[in-house]
Amino acid sequence: MLESESLGPGFLYSVVVIFGLLVGSFLNVVIYRLPRGESIVFPGSHCPACSVAVKPWDNLPVLSYLLLRGRCRSCGGAISLRYPAVELITGLLFGAVLWFFGATWTAPVMMVFVAGLLVAALVDLDHQIIPDSISMGGCGFGLIFVPWVTAQAGAPYVASLSYSLMGAIVGGGSLWLVGFLHARLSVALGREFPHWPDEGEAPPKPSEADYWLWFPGLGLGDVKLLAMVGAFLGPLGALDTIVAASILGLLLGGLWALTRGDWNSPFGFGPAIAIGALCSVFIPVHRLLLMV
Ligand SMILES: [Zn+2]
Repeated sequence: MLESESLGPGFLYSVVVIFGLLVGSFLNVVIYRLPRGESIVFPGSHCPACSVAVKPWDNLPVLSYLLLRGRCRSCGGAISLRYPAVELITGLLFGAVLWFFGATWTAPVMMVFVAGLLVAALVDLDHQIIPDSISMGGCGFGLIFVPWVTAQAGAPYVASLSYSLMGAIVGGGSLWLVGFLHARLSVALGREFPHWPDEGEAPPKPSEADYWLWFPGLGLGDVKLLAMVGAFLGPLGALDTIVAASILGLLLGGLWALTRGDWNSPFGFGPAIAIGALCSVFIPVHRLLLMV
């Protein structure tokens, strides 16, 4: 346990939520710049409309947005509501992690996890990709730190490491299998997809890497994201996430299509996986389903 009792729980929650707001502000930068291949450190924040550098006092999470009434100080251009929303969500998620895991070493590790999920969801929503640095980097982080903090809490290290490894394999593997079987079945049924295989090309053969790694409707990024989820939440958490993500994918995909009036608009499975995983951190779906 971390020393916190002397200052009372209210103080610790305030510090963690404010820290979450600041991290959320940084996540906004990562979400915008990472998929564009820009540095996430330099230069400092600037208005996307007029390029004027944002002053530090105009860059306070949520507060500055409210004080500026959602407009840039120099050009008056609208600031997306998403920026304060990401800051607020990160702050609330960090508070929820502290509430759920207590003042333990597991809490900061899970904060890294929820931050990674948030970035993955929004980058996928914008660009239909999930950067490997988030999914694979997150998977590596989970495999190193989750067994370590579990061992700190008294569990045997080797068992904890196997649980994380099993989680990554079950998470990534089960989604890969769905994509693989779906691809083989689609070929057998002669189904066609707009970009799979490319126009005038035959479906990939078993001797080609694409046969094993390229599936219609499912990106390998989704597979890697679920491997990351499994590394943090273990095999059961990965399965919870798949169930939650499937339900969410149908709902969100339907809403997305309805609001755009286009049933063929691309809606990545990534955001559904990320939100499903966020739910699974706090509500184990398998327990709900089995009523135990
Ligand atoms: Zn501006």
